[in-house]
Amino acid sequence: MDAGQAAVALPHHIRKKLRAIVGADAVIEEKSGLHVYECDGYTLQKASPEIVVLPADTSEVSRVLALLSSNGVPFVPRGAGTGVSGGCLPLEIPVMLGTSRMRRIRSIDLPNRRAVVEAGVVNLSVSRAVDDEGYYYAPDPSSQSACSIGGNVAENSGGPHTLKYGVTVNHVLGLELVLPDGEVINLERGDQETGYDLVGVVTGSEGTLGVVTAATVRLNVKPQSIATLLAVFPDITTASRAVSAIIADGIVPAALEMMDGLVIQAVEDAYGFGFPRDAGAVLIVELDGLEAGLDALCSRVSEACRSKGASEVRRAADEKERDLLWKSRKRAFGAMGRLAPAYCTQDGVVPRSRLPEIAERIAEVGKRHRLRIANLMHAGDGNIHPLLLYDDKDEDEVARVLTASDEILEACLALGGSITGEHGIGVEKLGLMSSAFTDETLDAMADLRSVFNGDNLCNPHKLLPSDRQCIEIRRPRVRGGG
Ligand SMILES: Cc1cc2nc3c(=O)[nH]c(=O)nc-3n(C[C@H](O)[C@H](O)[C@H](O)COP(=O)(O)OP(=O)(O)OC[C@H]3O[C@@H](n4cnc5c(N)ncnc54)[C@H](O)[C@@H]3O)c2cc1C
Repeated sequence: MDAGQAAVALPHHIRKKLRAIVGADAVIEEKSGLHVYECDGYTLQKASPEIVVLPADTSEVSRVLALLSSNGVPFVPRGAGTGVSGGCLPLEIPVMLGTSRMRRIRSIDLPNRRAVVEAGVVNLSVSRAVDDEGYYYAPDPSSQSACSIGGNVAENSGGPHTLKYGVTVNHVLGLELVLPDGEVINLERGDQETGYDLVGVVTGSEGTLGVVTAATVRLNVKPQSIATLLAVFPDITTASRAVSAIIADGIVPAALEMMDGLVIQAVEDAYGFGFPRDAGAVLIVELDGLEAGLDALCSRVSEACRSKGASEVRRAADEKERDLLWKSRKRAFGAMGRLAPAYCTQDGVVPRSRLPEIAERIAEVGKRHRLRIANLMHAGDGNIHPLLLYDDKDEDEVARVLTASDEILEACLALGGSITGEHGIGVEKLGLMSSAFTDETLDAMADLRSVFNGDNLCNPHKLLPSDRQCIEIRRPRVRGGG
């Protein structure tokens, strides 16, 4: 659907009640204000909600959902809107519920290494809140200075350091969830998992099972020592071989990231870190742990890189240089504007030993569709992010981007991988779900969805193809408790 109002006009009496629940200052109804909420980072599809409501706390979320549920009104949760698969696109959904006012860190429990944070808390704020005490929150999406914990939970977000530390689901111990009918439930997992892992079910469910209002997250102790290396390669293929060589040597880096030549040029133009402009690819390899032994690990990584064709391996001299290196990497998406008016970030996974094959396939797809494709990769995880550059005013080019994206993701499947590593399905990849999963698995997912979201009012048209969403409710819905 193009930008514009949702298909069904929201009745006046519901608008009035929503204003009464959250306060007139916490609703957005004017067209100019709604414009901001037409899309997330996936800009190829847009739709305007009729109203955005911004509750201040769990009780307000609960009352809003109870009202919507009793009137059969669909809604979509939204965090910071940095998603890149259209997960919070208000497609034929009149009400958007934003968590941006729910930014309290409710408690920090250092002896038990956990914190309870509200859904709208920005990812980086969690680490900042415990930094002085020597702790941090490990999942670090490159968008971490903007994205919310609620969005991270919904997408099961990863980041450069997930190679060693895992993704969001590995760091969430409990969730406060408001079910689509307004009931508030607490899902606990604690450190020992018993029974069905409902926290795991909700994590990665892309806002289709209810609204997460708070999460209990794990806090990690900062490593004693960190070393960050930059290895320079002639091309992606040699860099990919080095990735396998490092892992084959038994080393698990904290991060193992790759940028290709196009990304390097854009990043250099934007930030001037000092990457060699003629490099075909670079690897950023971060090692952490006890100080003793770290130098030896660096030597082994350096040797693995050189044996696969690295022309240079250098180590960040100090914290300042390391910081700049990571800033350049994490802001690489922002630098893409220097290459083209628009870009589409793809997100697929292949077994890491097959990175050279997918890199070749991406190059071939780009050539055939006359597209420039830059490549960022969480290479250690086999998680690729081809960035398909285009001009959004060129309809033919937009169509070629969509076809090329599908072809790249189909190639990931053919190589034994998957159609998303961390960005989710949203609306973007709905068409690929039947390639990725069997009918039986899709049915099981639809059953699970209906247990939480039986009336399908919570973020419809996402994650599962539409014909899988309207199924009979076969079991009682989830009820409160631990
Ligand atoms: C520059 C850039 C870099 C990125 N880097 C990474 C990266 O390294 N790793 C990575 O994993 N992702 C990355 N992303 C994608 C994105 O930042 C993540 O998916 C992030 O978790 C989205 O959080 P958000 O608060 O912006 O969520 P939104 O975009 O607002 O929403 C995302 C989804 O979560 C749902 N949702 C949001 N809040 C809630 C809630 N409280 N309860 C239930 N559902 C909710 C929405 O309905 C939607 O389906 C990047 C994006 C950008 C733009």
